[in-house]
Amino acid sequence: MVQVDPIKAFSDNYIWALKKEDKVWVVDPGQAEPVFDYLEQTATTLAGILITHHHWDHTNGVEALLQTFKNIPVYGPENSPFEGISHKLNESDEITVADTKFKIISTPGHTLDHICYMNDAFCFTGDTLFSAGCGRLFEGDPEMMWHSLEKFSSYSDETKIYCTHEYTVANLNFAKTVEPENKILKKHLEEVQTLVAQNIPSLPTNFALERAINPFLRTSLPNTLKHLPKHLIQEQSNNWQKFAALRAWKDEF
Ligand SMILES: [Zn+2]
Repeated sequence: MVQVDPIKAFSDNYIWALKKEDKVWVVDPGQAEPVFDYLEQTATTLAGILITHHHWDHTNGVEALLQTFKNIPVYGPENSPFEGISHKLNESDEITVADTKFKIISTPGHTLDHICYMNDAFCFTGDTLFSAGCGRLFEGDPEMMWHSLEKFSSYSDETKIYCTHEYTVANLNFAKTVEPENKILKKHLEEVQTLVAQNIPSLPTNFALERAINPFLRTSLPNTLKHLPKHLIQEQSNNWQKFAALRAWKDEF
């Protein structure tokens, strides 16, 4: 069985470690030191690196890891400005790491190069999909991000979601403002506050929960924009425009 462990980095990043026997693959190592610590504690060696997008807090540890673990594969997006990728990936490509097959989906929006590593049991969504939130649009536009998020709709409710940041409490506070009537959301916020206060990750989440609490996966529902501030009301005849209004609301929250 493959095991997925969180390695904490910076103030709120998770470098996810896929551990299969004595081999480990890490997702988005923004720092090398916590990965070296994990490998030592678990008596494992690094077998490969998966990158979701070029941001420094997802890639800065790669060089130092490669100095120790020479010639291991570094998977990442074909169109990435990050130059350390040895195995370049595009939409619909498939890779097998830790005896686990992943399908690549291209999810531009947060950055133009963003990809997610998907299968029906679990997935790595980087800074595209967070628990109760989604990534800021640094390089893409709302229409692009909407189409990226739509790609998650074909995955089952049980699929576990490992994203890169512990933003869940802040995201849920925004989500509660969007949908104050949502009881599942209110209950989940209480549970997550308890976990985070004890320094326990709120992740992974799953699509069943996200479809119930994440406003960015709920933009097509009639009540999601009921409380939208008046100055953000604009043309909303299609779903990506509703998403754009919601994202603008979160940006100023
Ligand atoms: Zn990012």
